Amino acid sequence: MIIIYGVETFTKHMGFFGPVETCPNCSRSYSPAYVRSRTWFHLTYIPIFPVKTCYYKTCPVCGNSVELDKKTAKSLMINPNYSQSVCMYARHILSLKPAKLFDPDNSYELWFKDFITNQEFCVFAGLSKEQIKNIKKNMGLKQFQIIDYN
Ligand SMILES: [Zn+2]
Repeated sequence: MIIIYGVETFTKHMGFFGPVETCPNCSRSYSPAYVRSRTWFHLTYIPIFPVKTCYYKTCPVCGNSVELDKKTAKSLMINPNYSQSVCMYARHILSLKPAKLFDPDNSYELWFKDFITNQEFCVFAGLSKEQIKNIKKNMGLKQFQIIDYN
């Protein structure tokens, strides 16, 4: 019998917390998103116990992240910002290529919409359906939706 063991990291989107901040990387102003990254020791891919837990304060637009210790992260994750003024969604671009050449593997784009300024901008282009599913799962955003664009 072969026993497979090792470590695997899972990330969880914890939500948006605190007041709006200006990102030092992309200069856009949003409530920071908090992400927990937990590395588990696994036996045959069944998580047994966590070996490392990290928290990150992340810009929801460009993904610029700052690592925080647990105590700091917990103290900052008190006031959830439910009035989040942005929504993230995926566009399924059906019109990028003629139907014959249509390649479903890279026809998704990740977009942000800012409800205050009504600006929309593309964060990533050329994503596959699988990548979009993973982003949706990791971010855990309720607002996430896939829209077909013709
Ligand atoms: Zn940013």
